[in-house]
Parts: sequence; C-alpha cells; structure tokens
Amino acid sequence: MNILAIETSCDETAAAVVADGRHILSNIISSQVPLHTLYGGVVPELASRAHIERIDQVVQEALKEAGTTLEAVDAIAVTYGSGLVGALLVGVAYAKALAFGLKKPLIGVHHIEGHVAANFLAHPELEPPFLSLIVSGGHTNLAFMKDYGVFEIIGRTRDDAAGEAFDKVARAIGLGYPGGPKIENAAREGNPEAIHFPRGKVDEAPYDFTFSGMKSAVLNYLNHAEMTGETVSRADVAASFQAAAVEVLVSRAMAAAREFGQDKLVLAGGVAANGALRAALQEACDKAGVALYAPPLILCTDNAAMIGAAGYYRYLKGDLAGWDLNAVPYLELG
Ligand code: AMP
Ligand code: MG
Repeated sequence: MNILAIETSCDETAAAVVADGRHILSNIISSQVPLHTLYGGVVPELASRAHIERIDQVVQEALKEAGTTLEAVDAIAVTYGSGLVGALLVGVAYAKALAFGLKKPLIGVHHIEGHVAANFLAHPELEPPFLSLIVSGGHTNLAFMKDYGVFEIIGRTRDDAAGEAFDKVARAIGLGYPGGPKIENAAREGNPEAIHFPRGKVDEAPYDFTFSGMKSAVLNYLNHAEMTGETVSRADVAASFQAAAVEVLVSRAMAAAREFGQDKLVLAGGVAANGALRAALQEACDKAGVALYAPPLILCTDNAAMIGAAGYYRYLKGDLAGWDLNAVPYLELG
C-alpha cells in the first residue's frame, strides 16, 4: 500500500511516498532555513507563504521519484498538529483537496507520532510496545508506545522543550538559527566541563524535565562575563550546556527504563540528531542491556516519510480523517 504523505508543520515543506509504512519510495524536503536565518528564527507568516509556494512542486517531485502518480497512490496522509497553525493549514488544505478530488482515504497524523514512527522506517524489526524518549523543538517526553499510535506519557517538560533550550542558548551566545546543529558544532571545539550548568529536577516527578534553570544559568553566566569584561568562550558555553542537557535526558530515560523494566528505548525528534546525545545514550543503554533505536539523521528532523509511516498504522486501524480535518497547533499526543 503506497501512501503519499505531506508535512508542513514548521519550516520544512515535505512530501514522501511510503510503501506499507516501512519502505521509503521517495522523501523530498524543501528547507526554509535560508529564508528564516535573517530573522534568527522561524517567522510563522513567512513559513506559511513559503509552504504555499513550494508544496505543489515538492509533491510532484515525491511522486516522480517514487515512480508513481497521484491516481496510483492508495491514501493521503498529512500532519495536522502540533505545529504552527498557518503552516499546518497549508498541508491540511492541500491534502484534503487532493483526497477529495481523487476519492482517496485521508489520514491525519500527529507530528510527534511521526517522529517516533521514523524508527519504523529505519528498523524493520522494531514493533511496539517500547519506551520512547521524544526530544523536539516543541516537546520533551518520556512515553510508552503501547501499540501503534497509542501513547502513555510518563514524563514531560515543565517549561522549555529540549530543542527550544538549544535554540535559545544558541541565540544567546550569538550562534543564531537553527540553534541545535550550531551548538553541536561549536561544542566540538569546547570543554564540556568548563562551566557547571544546573541539571534541573522536578520534585516528586522523577521523569519530568525542566530546562529553564539551565537556560537562565547560561544567560546569567553571559551577563556576568559581560559586566566584568571577561571574555567568553562560545565553544565552552556550548559544550557545557550540551553536556548538561544530555546528562538530564540520558539519566531520566535510563531511570524510566530501569524502573519499568524496559529493554527497548526509542529516540525520536529533531534533537535525536545530536551526536553527543546519541553517543551518551548508546553507552548508557549498552551498560544497562537496553537496545537503543534511533533514526538516521535525515529522518530525525522534519520529513514526510515519517508521517507516511505513522499514517499507515492509523489506516490499518480504520482511523481515517473526515473532510472537517483541521490544523490543531497544540494537539495532545495519545
Ligand atoms: P523538531 O521540533 O523535532 O522538528 O526538531 C527541531 C528541533 O531539533 C530544533 O529545536 C533544533 O534546534 C533541534 N535540533 C536539530 N538538530 C539538532 C542537533 N544536532 N542537536 C541538538 N538539537 C538539534
Ligand atoms: Mg518536528
């Protein structure tokens, strides 16, 4: 079964064709990074307009590369939340029009469910149930995926998401957008033990996250250095912040795996592209006898193939969308 999938929740216009939820026939991503760089972050209105300009071409390319046609695909899947409302609306309206005109089934997919499903494309043997660490620009969760599309969240962030913290720290030290990859690059030249940033904990919620204290500590450090005229090593700040963020993510995930007797841990979301996080989790999982699954880098950040994978399992359950499908910017997971 071939699904044409569309993803426009933030700053990538993406379309893909996925066979049986597991095989990528095409995966086209048109990044808007150059457009938003000037402003130091994603400008929602510009993102929506760029999606409108590009979506048709991106979909045509995805079909062509997959060697198929609109008439031949079996269903249309689209991200309907969470994300920027105007950006989501472009994909949702486009997918609805296609499905209506072609008389094909329409499937609405949660963006984060898509990030987790990226692992089904990379790891053919992987099946739920498993524990998942979801680290993205808008979400930070520890969750059980009990069955396809069925999540039980056991930990969440109380303030910033992990990716958001990377982005804010990158801006504060003048690295700009997109923050995650820039911190990772800068950190390669820095000393992760140069500065101790707090590893925040939430009382009586052992699997919850808080990044605001860590982020404030970075800002305070920078302010203090500016006032006293000390020179700041951006590489040391980046490396020390990254070490703190990684330690928090790894320690919470491993504590949950231990407590709930899990032998599989699935990493998902844009921050899953971070090499330091992947290496630290791999080491911790090896020690604990837990199998770690992570998507390849191209499937960590936003793409439509992951939406096609998640959409397939929704389709199998008969979970189809109606013509009233709408964009939901704060869509809950599970
Ligand atoms: P998502 O919200 O899942 O689409 O992912 C976007 C988020 O992932 C942004 O906050 C990025 O800064 C973050 N991100 C992407 N690549 C990296 C990286 N290599 N290291 C840390 N964060 C990253
Ligand atoms: Mg995303």
